[in-house]
Formats: sequence, C-alpha cells, structure tokens
Amino acid sequence: MKCTFCGKEMEKGTGKLVVKADGKILSFCKSKCEKNSIIRNPRRVAWTEVFKEQKQTKKV
Ligand SMILES: [Zn+2]
Repeated sequence: MKCTFCGKEMEKGTGKLVVKADGKILSFCKSKCEKNSIIRNPRRVAWTEVFKEQKQTKKV
C-alpha cells in the first residue's frame, strides 16, 4: 500500500488508515503526511512522489 500523500510504499501494519465520509480510504505513512494532506496539495509539496512525477513529466 502506498501513502496517499507522499506516495511512498509503506509496510503492512504501519502508518494510519483514514476512511472518509464519502467512503474513500486514505493511508498515511506518518502523521506529517496526514496533517499536510488536509492543508496542502501534494503536487505542491517537494517531498512527495506526485511532485517528482510531475516534474519528470514536464521535462518530457
Ligand atoms: Zn507519506
């Protein structure tokens, strides 16, 4: 399972699962990711996989 926010692979039994009211399941590898997901867009946060992928896509 991957962290919803930073996109890093996390081991089973680690991190935190959050079920939203609309049924979506979010997984976070650490509380830092959980907090940031509420206030920030992962595409604008330099340490997320989404941000890195976005950067790579722009280059191509
Ligand atoms: Zn994370």
